[in-house]
Amino acid sequence: MPMQPLFSTNPHDDDGFHEECGVFGVWNATDAAALTALGLHALQHRGQEASGIVTLSGHEDDRGSFHQHRGLGLVGDIFGDAKVMAQLKGRCAVGHNRYATTGETALRNVQPLYADFEFGGLAVAHNGNLTNAGTLKRTLVRRGCLFQSTTDSEVFVHLIAISLYSNVVDRLIDALKQVQGAYSLVALHNGALIGARDPLGVRPLVLGRIGPAENGAYVLASETCALDIVGAEFVRDIEPGEVVIINNDGLRSIQPFGRSQGRFCIFEYVYFARPDSVVEGTPVYQTRKRIGAELAQESPVEADVIVPVPDSGVPAAMGYATESGIPFELGIIRNHYVGRTFIEPTDQIRHLGVKLKHSANRAMIEGKRVILVDDSIVRGTTSKKIVEMVRQAGAREVHMRISSPPTTHPCFYGIDTPERAKLLAANHDVEEMARIIGADSLAFISLDGMYRALGRPGRDARNPGYCDACFTGDYAIPLTDLADHPEREPALLAANGQ
Ligand code: AMP
Repeated sequence: MPMQPLFSTNPHDDDGFHEECGVFGVWNATDAAALTALGLHALQHRGQEASGIVTLSGHEDDRGSFHQHRGLGLVGDIFGDAKVMAQLKGRCAVGHNRYATTGETALRNVQPLYADFEFGGLAVAHNGNLTNAGTLKRTLVRRGCLFQSTTDSEVFVHLIAISLYSNVVDRLIDALKQVQGAYSLVALHNGALIGARDPLGVRPLVLGRIGPAENGAYVLASETCALDIVGAEFVRDIEPGEVVIINNDGLRSIQPFGRSQGRFCIFEYVYFARPDSVVEGTPVYQTRKRIGAELAQESPVEADVIVPVPDSGVPAAMGYATESGIPFELGIIRNHYVGRTFIEPTDQIRHLGVKLKHSANRAMIEGKRVILVDDSIVRGTTSKKIVEMVRQAGAREVHMRISSPPTTHPCFYGIDTPERAKLLAANHDVEEMARIIGADSLAFISLDGMYRALGRPGRDARNPGYCDACFTGDYAIPLTDLADHPEREPALLAANGQ
């Protein structure tokens, strides 16, 4: 078998460079492992490839011990076994769901990562993507660090290990100051549960509480839907650049980077977050409906029926239908027992996945002028298949409406997108795209329309308030590793002055 290269030359072929994922942590609760498994189950949409939980028993004194279990597959399959759960003792835990990308799927990459340090054990779970992980990794390897996995989250572990600070929080902050990129992380050691968000707060992390304010339990999670499932009350979002330390004395907050405006990922509203979550104070479901309404105002077309591409297109299609007065029908039925199309790594399987996933509901489509609503076009694979399927089911006209602006740029901050060469909108104008996907017309929400749906007057270029690099190419965090390989995305690097 060929050796796995230490540093991949293609960021999209290396599972260490683009991780979406869900994280969960709890401090001082009965059944911490079960709560974490439930939280991870609610965050299953953020990653279906693998999952892990590390618990801490005996947190009341300094002699706590850690227990861990990781597996490949879905949360229910990995943690559905009573024997596994019984081993995960203790009142404190952290957990992680891993998103499948191309590249190596190995147990050694499944988080939380755990290591024994001078100060005791530490488990780390991370959502996001470090843009200088490769550069840091090279330096660390030269200094003698032995990497056990190919995930960039391990960079945190080595930076903490070699830090000259004495306590774990200072060591973690020392590590955070060296990494660039997007991260929401939860970490557990003998004395505390720690949560941290990158200085721009690109990836989400929320704080919740179970039980009374005095001696209740604290919960950290990627999204509020994970608080709901464990009966935790939402307290607040962790702020951009904030580090929270939760222990038996309560919660302490540090802002090691100073306060900043933040650039939360706009694509979480488009596609990634669960519709029942509230992120950064804005409910995802209502936002998606408002985007649909804006889209109906911006790009109306005469039609008989609005059909969402399920599930991601549903709220926007509802908003479009209400605004336009055209009836909403489930003209496409989704089979829920197949993973998201993106999960399968090869193009061949991805094509097959689309067919397995959606079927036309002929009675709602035959002889009709159909408006299809989906959340995004990335490669165009899904739209092309769906349009063809709807035509085969007898549609008279097929109009495609997309509830995000054209995805013209890859994400380097944690959302899985291919390089520019594979992004349909990076290489074709809207008219050409309509022809390629076979639609009678195609329209995307405008960038300003998207910001209006988020309650702003439009996009303020000096202070957008969101990371929208996938639609604008405005990358707010340096793309350090990419700059080492200018051949990959030369135009993109030049546009960003790198
Ligand atoms: P494509 O078929 O490549 O054009 O991908 C577009 C479809 O994939 C849309 O239906 C989206 O709902 C979905 N999608 C968009 N972004 C992602 C992502 N990062 N991960 C998984 N699915 C996605």
